[in-house]
Amino acid sequence: MAKPAKNPIAQGFMTPVPIQSILPINVGLTPAQEATMISILGSPSIPLTTDCQNAKASTRVKALVETRPMSDVFKLTGIRPALNSVQKVLAAVFAANPDLKTVLSTEGMLCVRRRKPTSGAVSKKLSNHSWGTAVDFKIVGFDAPGNTKQDVPKFIALMVPHFNKEGWLSGIAFNDSMHFEVADETIKQWSKDGKLV
Ligand SMILES: [Zn+2]
Repeated sequence: MAKPAKNPIAQGFMTPVPIQSILPINVGLTPAQEATMISILGSPSIPLTTDCQNAKASTRVKALVETRPMSDVFKLTGIRPALNSVQKVLAAVFAANPDLKTVLSTEGMLCVRRRKPTSGAVSKKLSNHSWGTAVDFKIVGFDAPGNTKQDVPKFIALMVPHFNKEGWLSGIAFNDSMHFEVADETIKQWSKDGKLV
């Protein structure tokens, strides 16, 4: 039996876009360092595997965590300042691309675990999902995009500038297209501004 046809709106947002065409990206933003994250939000209980072990989240993260709907399609669990920021970004994204609101979904936000580099290498470092400050996106009916080489799906390409503007780094920086995280500079600023207490 033939598979049901994919939603054409969803399919459209999966169209490959050359990364070259959206450069420069992540200007002035660097990946959040483990030392920065532990300094500001505390360390999860270790050891950790590469599976989500959210009961091991740091005390500070547990105090700040919340689950909030982002659209009729999905909700996110993360720390409150990050959820506030994602909502601001998505409001701008959906205003510019109303159809995306009907098909954008997530592969998760808070997930206390070690990193899983898309290269397949083993990492002992903690994933930034461990603090609920990273989020992975996908389109309903499609796998979340990982290492998509020289292209990214259109929905990622159009979200990058909006996330960058609010201080989120795109995972294109390390071949993980679905991924956005609060940049090192941004988490330090939020801490200075008293948003993380
Ligand atoms: Zn991720």
